[in-house]
Amino acid sequence: MPELPEVEVVRRGLEAQLLGARFSQLEILTPGVVQAAPDLLKQLPGQELLAVMRRAKYLILVLSQDRILIHLRMTGQVLVTPAETSKALLPLPFTYYQRPLNNLPDKHTHGIFHFADQRRLFYRDIRKFGRVQLLSAPQLDQWPALLKLGPEPLENTFNYQTLASTLGRSQRNIKAWLLDQTNIAGLGNIYVDEALFVAGILPRRSVESLKPAEIRRLLKAIPQVLQKGINAGGTSLKDYLHPDGQRGSHQEHLFVYGRGGQPCFQCQQTIVKTTLAQRGTHYCPHCQR
Ligand SMILES: [Zn+2]
Repeated sequence: MPELPEVEVVRRGLEAQLLGARFSQLEILTPGVVQAAPDLLKQLPGQELLAVMRRAKYLILVLSQDRILIHLRMTGQVLVTPAETSKALLPLPFTYYQRPLNNLPDKHTHGIFHFADQRRLFYRDIRKFGRVQLLSAPQLDQWPALLKLGPEPLENTFNYQTLASTLGRSQRNIKAWLLDQTNIAGLGNIYVDEALFVAGILPRRSVESLKPAEIRRLLKAIPQVLQKGINAGGTSLKDYLHPDGQRGSHQEHLFVYGRGGQPCFQCQQTIVKTTLAQRGTHYCPHCQR
């Protein structure tokens, strides 16, 4: 499942490839997954892509007039065909299926944005939990799921004071607390396990038991592991691909996530895999207290 770093890498890819592009139409193949009101659909042609933003795990495409909100959820992918390909051929060296993705739209493609210069943006999603929504600017501003989100951990508003006050005296375990998007936006299972390892905190510790020094370590560890993920191009565990179809390499640099039964890089003791907050949870029993 794409988390903040993966979505940020996709955002940068879309920005690099499509900024300034002019939309010509949106072709909806699966109406439940790709949603657009008829009046917005009608006024899409001619609108320019002015910015590609990210809030938590959401992508927000800012058009001259309207907005496109994309949430990839479990298996969503956005893929761009270059202008020179007239057929739906993508020069992809690697995909989830480990074969070139060269016959788009396939049965997992749910929507196609067409651009004036013949480029196309495909929304593909095997499990169909993701959503692509064409919204007006006021609709986006009032979008309930966005309003509920906690602070962005890579922004400087994420400081000791905000973190400590949000943590409060909760009796929940820190793993579940960090997964909750209303506390901190954008963290998922991989980066929570990684951040807790870097901070030296056991995932089952209750929030109220955290000492100020531990909160400070967590405050430092969260942006650190997210930035490391972004720098590595994201973690490609299953379906996550960059908009050009390339994979990330962060899966090769994880400290604990997915490493149950293997030796800890720091102390050589065995990484434990357990279930916490209904999620596979990985930690080092020696390095984390
Ligand atoms: Zn260790």
